[in-house]
Amino acid sequence: MDNRTVGVLGGGQLGRMFIESANRVGVKVIILDGDSAPAKQISAHGDHISGSFKDAAAVKKLAQICDVITVEIEHVDTQMLEEVADDGGVVVEPHWSTLRIIKDKFRQKMWLKDHGVEVAESVDLEGLGGGEEGMVGVCRRLGFPCMVKSKTEAYDGRGNFVVKSEEDFARAKKALGDRPLYAERWAEFCMELAVMVVKTKDGVKTFPTVETVHEDSICKLTYAPPRNVSRETAQRAQELAKRAVAAFEGKGVFGVEMFLLKDDSLLVNEIAPRPHNSGHYTIEACPLSQYDAHLRAILDLPVPEHGLRLREPAVMLNILGGQTPDSHVQIAQQALESPNASIHLYGKGEARPGRKMGHIVVTAPTLSAAEREMQPLIDAVDAQKG
Ligand code: ATP
Ligand code: MG
Ligand code: MG
Repeated sequence: MDNRTVGVLGGGQLGRMFIESANRVGVKVIILDGDSAPAKQISAHGDHISGSFKDAAAVKKLAQICDVITVEIEHVDTQMLEEVADDGGVVVEPHWSTLRIIKDKFRQKMWLKDHGVEVAESVDLEGLGGGEEGMVGVCRRLGFPCMVKSKTEAYDGRGNFVVKSEEDFARAKKALGDRPLYAERWAEFCMELAVMVVKTKDGVKTFPTVETVHEDSICKLTYAPPRNVSRETAQRAQELAKRAVAAFEGKGVFGVEMFLLKDDSLLVNEIAPRPHNSGHYTIEACPLSQYDAHLRAILDLPVPEHGLRLREPAVMLNILGGQTPDSHVQIAQQALESPNASIHLYGKGEARPGRKMGHIVVTAPTLSAAEREMQPLIDAVDAQKG
């Protein structure tokens, strides 16, 4: 099919599902991550590299044995990626500059704003004092509540703090430590939407719009199509997502998270330069999955637009680590009883509370039928939380 070797920085669940896709078409994938990484468990060749995707020397080593390098996480060493790309021996997709901009959430926001993409008003808090001209002043101006966010190393809400009043500043500072911070105006959204965009050598195409439901800042559920959203709004979300991704260089899939506000307008929340949790449903619900699309996009293989359509409505439920080490296994076991549930367990060792351990997708001829089948599993997840 294609003799090129693809290297991936990171071997978590996204890398694992990417390998599932690459294996089916015989493309060799080499992972840089720890030895027991979920992606390595399902790929038996001996060329994987052991180490951190943040380690420049390890990235260089990977570049020497691959034709194309991609990522399953954006918190990587983009300095080394720039170096190996400039050397010409390896192609980096998406472009290292895209990864560099996106991995800093504030820089990403400014980049989007400068390219005419609507985002929540954001103000840099780095280098400011604590007084009226500093953090307090900025948040007063943005209004309460507002979000104080870490610019870097943020995921699953770790790095976000809701500041409800001036009394919260000390707690925000303590919780986020000495990380570089920025403040964001509160988005009064009625719903969160997401779109997976595929950027190929020929332009941008999209998967359908989905609704995402977050709990404690972690994605809990996705609904495809979104519930009670007009076709026109779903289409606008796809157009905005396309515009946002078109502002960046390089190829691959991108996850675009958006807020749908009460006046029906849309804001981009953030972009992931890689496969994304909100695109898991594509494995079962679309002819091509987000992982198929990513592989094809970075290798310049065809990505027929009709392959990105929703074949059947789908609900996705994340399975997080719970109060006991096997909480997540209990949910997966219950899902075995459900005829249309596809179960994905990621092969992660330790189940810390809140850690993404797996997910379940139910597809059905109608979204309400999929919701009905998923409901007992949602109830089980909620019951575990108590
Ligand atoms: P991810 O795991 O998606 O990378 P993250 O840690 O980068 O998450 P964000 O996407 O910034 O975090 O925020 C997580 C969630 O917090 C959002 O999905 C949304 O529910 C809420 N949120 C974030 N920013 C705002 C805002 N400005 N106004 C209101 N809610 C917000
Ligand atoms: Mg994020
Ligand atoms: Mg997010």
